[in-house]
Amino acid sequence: MHVAVVGAGAFGAWTAYQLLQQGAEVTLFDQWGPGNSRASSGGETRLIRGTYGNDEVYTRLVAEAFQEWQSFQERTKHQVYYPTGSLWLFSKSDDSYARTATPLLERHGLSLEEWTIGQTQEKYPAVYLDDIHTVFWEKEAGYLLARKTCQYLLEEVLKGGGQFRYEHATPGKFVGGKLQGVKLADGSTFHADAYVFACGPWMPRLFPTLLGELITISRQDIHYFGLPEQASHFRVPNFPIWIDMGERIMYGVPDYDGRGFKVADDTREGPFDPSTVDRDVRAEKLSQVRQYLEHRFPALKEAPLTEARVCQYSNSPNGHFLLDQHPEADNLFLAGAGCGHGFKLGPSIGRMMSERILKETPIPEEFQLASLKNVASLSNQFEH
Ligand SMILES: Cc1cc2nc3c(=O)[nH]c(=O)nc-3n(C[C@H](O)[C@H](O)[C@H](O)COP(=O)(O)OP(=O)(O)OC[C@H]3O[C@@H](n4cnc5c(N)ncnc54)[C@H](O)[C@@H]3O)c2cc1C
Repeated sequence: MHVAVVGAGAFGAWTAYQLLQQGAEVTLFDQWGPGNSRASSGGETRLIRGTYGNDEVYTRLVAEAFQEWQSFQERTKHQVYYPTGSLWLFSKSDDSYARTATPLLERHGLSLEEWTIGQTQEKYPAVYLDDIHTVFWEKEAGYLLARKTCQYLLEEVLKGGGQFRYEHATPGKFVGGKLQGVKLADGSTFHADAYVFACGPWMPRLFPTLLGELITISRQDIHYFGLPEQASHFRVPNFPIWIDMGERIMYGVPDYDGRGFKVADDTREGPFDPSTVDRDVRAEKLSQVRQYLEHRFPALKEAPLTEARVCQYSNSPNGHFLLDQHPEADNLFLAGAGCGHGFKLGPSIGRMMSERILKETPIPEEFQLASLKNVASLSNQFEH
């Protein structure tokens, strides 16, 4: 079967890779290249963690994804997963997100243990903990390389005999329950046996009737701060990733590759146009992040801003991904709504999509179009 995959971010590139592994012929399209600066898979790093509250589907998928990230590294000889461990900080007494996850993680071969404040202070004295109620330590968590992984995936796709086209592609005509092809910028139509659109934050504009109301795009700012001289305790491998489950969910990655100490705010701001909006640093947001940095990591109070990035989430109403067949064409498949937590699951998403297309293996119900509208949700929990 020849499958055309449009979008070489985490969802499309992993789908193309897994389709090739399973014997399909693949043509991958991207308008600006894998992990480009406007893609949701752009930038340096993403967190990987198995803690997902009491949601066993995600816990199982992350456990599987951990294995696949390891195999990918062995196969490509590129390190993309850095197991730093994760500090989970809860400032409010409700830490059920971690507490309910603990038995599920154990069942899937991962671990989450509660640390006392004293124990945490001793191990990581640079973290201010006086307002922290409970701390959990997730040993296998860490960070993944984002844009580089997408580029390595493309290399693997090409090595495996797949084709790549640097082109804008849109859905062609729907005739008799089938998509007739994808339209390219020069007016031609590209034909395959099946089509996958994995266009991240561009999905609502490609499928406005189906997804225009369902998927919303939010702006997310990321700031990097330069370490003071001799502050190697904030650098990989001396410091873990951290997730601060306070009023605003804040998270970050220690200094990796000299890029600076990454601080991100999970709060969503929108709407956001992924093609046209300037991705500049906003003084107000920077000052908010600085206040946080000074509070939680006092030694970084004077740390200079070294880099900032603006990315976007594609949010579904309940925080679940969209991995499904198009309701009006049985040869057309959609992979999107990665929200703020899809990157780590790229390998599992690629496998589920390829098995759905090639073997008609059902995808778990929560990722089907009809379920996304059910707002009994993940959305006020941490999605990364
Ligand atoms: C700031 C931020 C932090 C995040 N943190 C985490 C985290 O810590 N852990 C985690 O697991 N996840 C995280 N996520 C979520 C994760 O990054 C996304 O879920 C994932 O990257 C989505 O990938 P995608 O392939 O769906 O979209 P994208 O990466 O946006 O890829 C879509 C691709 O489609 C291409 N495209 C679009 N339209 C067309 C067209 N018509 N023709 C051709 N090409 C087209 C684009 O150029 C793009 O390359 C984060 C996201 C953001 C923004």
